[in-house]
Amino acid sequence: MDQLMKTLRPYWHDPTQVFIHTTLSPITGRPDYTSLKRLEKENKDNARRVFSSRGDEGHLRLCYTLKDYNARANIAGNPWIDPVNPGPRPNIPIDATEAQVCLAVVNHHYDVQEFHLYHSTENALLKKAMEAVEEVYYKALEDPDLGYYQLKYIDFIQHLRETYGELDDDDLSNNIKRMNAPWMPTQPIQQLFNQIEKAQAFAREHDIISEKTAVRSAMTNLENSGAFPRDMKEWRLKPEADHTWNNFKIHFTAANKERLRTITTKEAGFHDQASKASQPQKDNPYIVRNSNGKGIMAYCFSHGLQWDLTHTSMTCRNRHKDHNEEATVSNMCGGLNRIKRQPGEVAIFKYQPSTTNRRTNGKENCIKQR
Ligand SMILES: [Zn+2]
Repeated sequence: MDQLMKTLRPYWHDPTQVFIHTTLSPITGRPDYTSLKRLEKENKDNARRVFSSRGDEGHLRLCYTLKDYNARANIAGNPWIDPVNPGPRPNIPIDATEAQVCLAVVNHHYDVQEFHLYHSTENALLKKAMEAVEEVYYKALEDPDLGYYQLKYIDFIQHLRETYGELDDDDLSNNIKRMNAPWMPTQPIQQLFNQIEKAQAFAREHDIISEKTAVRSAMTNLENSGAFPRDMKEWRLKPEADHTWNNFKIHFTAANKERLRTITTKEAGFHDQASKASQPQKDNPYIVRNSNGKGIMAYCFSHGLQWDLTHTSMTCRNRHKDHNEEATVSNMCGGLNRIKRQPGEVAIFKYQPSTTNRRTNGKENCIKQR
């Protein structure tokens, strides 16, 4: 018995030693939705780190009301029960055997430790949060006599959330803007998926962005990019039930992979053709180059200046009846004087046709070579 009592000396475990965020990211000025979310997340990381035999997520329960915590899906069937204060001494019946006494002592000791850890974790979470926020924003929680003595971490968080953490219409419409930001064919397609999923997560608790809306936003974006005309058609032809967000990502990830492969092959083919003609690439008169000599755009009599380097007056496969294979950027021979926008570029200027425009066709329109 004496031996047992010796091993049961109290040991107070400091929960902050296992916190990952020893200082939470400070919130300067008025807290808002985003900064509060971050603060909560950092303390959730901390709470999870403090072991508890009551659940798999350490002391995460302290970051929720008991009701909300137990309503989480992964808790189902195994609700959390808060430890209760076991009192100063073990409760030992007068006629207890020595074994029963030992058991009561050990249990009491364990309960004290557990109860203590629960409360010190709660205090530590509250303290970290208070240090990260300027006092003026939670002063209302101070009791005139007891100060913050009875304040619980979750009440502190709820107060800030209710007072400063509401998303307003501006936040939500900016979120939609971020979701619909134009995607460029030069960017990884994953970036488009990410921006949409991020927007969904942001609005989740406020103004839900449905799966249908997500798919529609991505479709519009890809449509504007002009990069997937055929794959869009294929997608539209699928049965409505298959138009899920996951299927969308699978479909267009594959389509993009194929698109990138084709572009590389086309470029390689173009270089081959150029070298076969033993003509330095730089001399190709259909191509517009940047300062490094890299081809950027190509000219076609029937289609104007556009981004497909394999498409020129010479190679065009869908020609105007007066098509002229000699038409180049510097000598369009009366061909189409249109510059195609980069996919994803939003038009601001709109062409207004004028009745005074006149045009004649034919080779006589070519500028005489000097
Ligand atoms: Zn053409």
